Order: sequence, then C-alpha cells, then structure tokens
Amino acid sequence: MVKKVLKFGGTSVGTIERIQHVANIIKKEHQSGNKLIVVVSAMAGKTNELIKLANDISEEFDSRELDVLLTSGEQVTCALLSGALIKLNVKAKSWLNWQIPILTDGDHTNSRIINMHVETINKYLDEKGIAIIPGFQGISKNGDVTSIGRGGSDATAVATAKLFSADFCEIYTDVDGVFSTDPNKIPVAKKIEKISYDEMLELSSLGAKVMQPSAVQTAMMYDIPLEVRSTFTDRKGTKIFSQENIDYSKSVTGVAYSRDDSKITIIGVADKPGIAANIFEPLSKAQINVDMVIQNISSDHKTTDITFTVKRDDVSKTKQILKTNSKINYKQIVQNEKVAKVSIVGAGMVSTPGVTYKMFRALSDELINILAISTSEIKLSVLIDEENTLKAVKKLHTIFDLD
Ligand code: ADP
Ligand code: ASP
Ligand code: MG
Repeated sequence: MVKKVLKFGGTSVGTIERIQHVANIIKKEHQSGNKLIVVVSAMAGKTNELIKLANDISEEFDSRELDVLLTSGEQVTCALLSGALIKLNVKAKSWLNWQIPILTDGDHTNSRIINMHVETINKYLDEKGIAIIPGFQGISKNGDVTSIGRGGSDATAVATAKLFSADFCEIYTDVDGVFSTDPNKIPVAKKIEKISYDEMLELSSLGAKVMQPSAVQTAMMYDIPLEVRSTFTDRKGTKIFSQENIDYSKSVTGVAYSRDDSKITIIGVADKPGIAANIFEPLSKAQINVDMVIQNISSDHKTTDITFTVKRDDVSKTKQILKTNSKINYKQIVQNEKVAKVSIVGAGMVSTPGVTYKMFRALSDELINILAISTSEIKLSVLIDEENTLKAVKKLHTIFDLD
C-alpha cells in the first residue's frame, strides 16, 4: 500500500463526463489498496471567466475579494468529484482551504503554502476514505481566503505530497507528459521519458505551462519525484526527479517559448559608471523583474542606449518609474510589446560546445533577427519578433534532433 497525491487539472475536470471519468480512475487506484489525496483545479476556463467578471466591475478589483471569487472554482470541482465518487459507492469527502486548513503566507493572489493540518485527513485515509482537496487556495493567518498564483494547483499538489509524506505525486493533465516542446503547437514534439528538476524548472519558467514553476521548485527542494501523465490515455507519463540516472546524450532536451515579455529601450543615456545601477535599482525596489539586458557600444563615448525586458504586466509601472527617476537623463524611451522569448534548455549543453553558435546560425538561416540574448548553464534564450515565434521553435526543434 502506498500513499499518493493525484492532481487533476482544469481540462481533466472540465465537464461532468470528465469528472465521472476521473472518478473511475480514482476508484481503480483505491481498489489497488492505495491511500489517496486528490487535488483538483477549477473546470477549464472557469478561473479566467471569474477574472473577467471582476474586471467588469473594476480593473483594480480589490485583491482580497478577488481571492474569494477566484477560489470558488475549485470548491465546485471538489464537491462534484466527491459526489461522483460517492455515486460509485466509494468513500470520499471534500475539504476546503479553511477546513483543512491550508495555511499560506504572502500577498493576496500570490500567496504560498506554508503548512497544512494533516491529522484529520490522515485519520480519514486510515479509515479507507479518499480526501478531495482544492488546488490553488489557502487561508492566511488572519483567516482571509488566499490564492497562490495561476496554475497553482500544481503547487498545492507538491506541497500536499511533502506535508503528508506521500510516496508519489502524479499530475494528471490533457497531454501524455512533458514534451520536447508544446505538442499542441508543434505536432512533431516528442514525449520525454525522464527529466531532471533543473531542466523542468527552466522549461516551465520559460513558458512550458505543463507544470507551474514554483511547484517544480518545491519538488526539487524536497526531492519529491513527480510524474506528469494523461487523464485521457493509459500511456506512461514523464518522470521528473533529481539529476542522476538521466541520459544526457542530447545537448538540448526541450524548446520553450513565451509571449509575456516586453522590450524597453532607453535612448541616449550617459555612458559612464553608475548609470545602469541608477536605472535598475528603483525597478528592483518596486519588485519589477528585469530579465535580458543589452547596452550598446557608445559611438561618441558620451551617450549610449540600454535595452532590457520586463513582463508585459509591468510595462506601465516601469515607464512611470523611469520617467520620475531624477538620477538619469535620456533622449527617449521606446517600447516594443510584439516580442517573444524562445529558449533551448538542456543539462547536456554544459558538456557540448557549439550550441550557441548552432542556435544563432539556425535563426539566421530563417532570417530571424535576434533582439536580445540571455544564458545560464543549461539554457539559452533569445528575444525575437513575436510573428516569428513558431517558425523559430520549429527550426530549433529540428536542428537539435528533437523531431
Ligand atoms: P492543467 O489544466 O492540467 O494544469 P495546463 O493547461 O496547465 O494543464 O498544462 C498543459 C498544457 O501545457 C498542454 O495542453 C500543452 O499545450 C501545454 N504545454 C506547453 N509546453 C509543453 C510541453 N513542453 N510539454 C507538454 N505540454 C506543454
Ligand atoms: N484554477 C487555477 C488557474 O486556472 C489554478 C489551476 O488550474 O492550477 O490558474
Ligand atoms: Mg496547469
């Protein structure tokens, strides 16, 4: 007998038929004698729908009330799934954030789970019951309802696996596992059998939304092995675990992309020590994350241009801070939102020379201009015009032997 956390994403519980199908998967697992805690997302599209309702009232909808609203989606699926299991004569019960409780710390809409009370649910599992709990939600020390960020049910699943000392954590979703790139966009993408935490963390941070980055980070920190698999097929999924036992014969494991960055160029800033620090210090104090940075070589040794990227959501705040910054002088600020970041990720890159050159050559063969670059030991990202995104992903997927 093992203890498992099973997490079902939005598409997996998107309709009543699908919830009934999920109930059958759970029933089978239970019949093999396993103790089960099931984490559910809201029905697909529900959270977006709720955000839209809030925006219809105000673009600055109160964040405490937003959390009360958004977490309602998971309440619905918890009850429906428990009801479906009970209908199948299986002992099951739902708990909400405040009933468990799932304690969180941090700001509304962006909290993180710090603890869960385990005794009551453990006792229920000992009595052969199945616990159904909501992803994405928690409760603060003050007793306010909180949410933990978009895609946060993955993080709830991993935190549950850790706090309940589960033997396995399985993430059920609408694709067969983690692929070399998004299989819904690039059909020649291949399923990856095993992947290290580090590579998965890079891939998900760079846009592969199949796993939420903070969930991968927690799994890596506490060495919780994960499996991503499909709700709709019986095929083996992808195992995510620590680095040993993985074959790195390929330099690149996957290609990811995201369209949530924006490029900002400050034209005509003084070319002297301290200017970059003066530009970026107030941004960092405002919690704005600057990703790629390029400083042009000054042609007159007096002024230069500095280009950097921030998340699109942070653009207006960034421009506001730059405009009110008395420590810098410049001619103009230019902004481009129609950009995409395309990245190759692979632990094998460390030991393979020439990966950078190969990536740049491939993009130039497709006449794709590189606007900015950033690297780490196991990833290489380039910023390009948004319209070239899929062309670039396809090309890189092919030349790094991933098709
Ligand atoms: P869930 O609702 O189950 O949490 P998500 O929509 O959050 O599912 O994540 C699954 C989706 O992630 C897939 O449908 C797929 O389009 C997308 N995706 C992006 N990159 C990848 C990748 N490298 N491998 C697998 N899926 C990916
Ligand atoms: N329902 C939440 C969202 O859409 C959490 C999740 O699905 O993981 O972001
Ligand atoms: Mg998800």
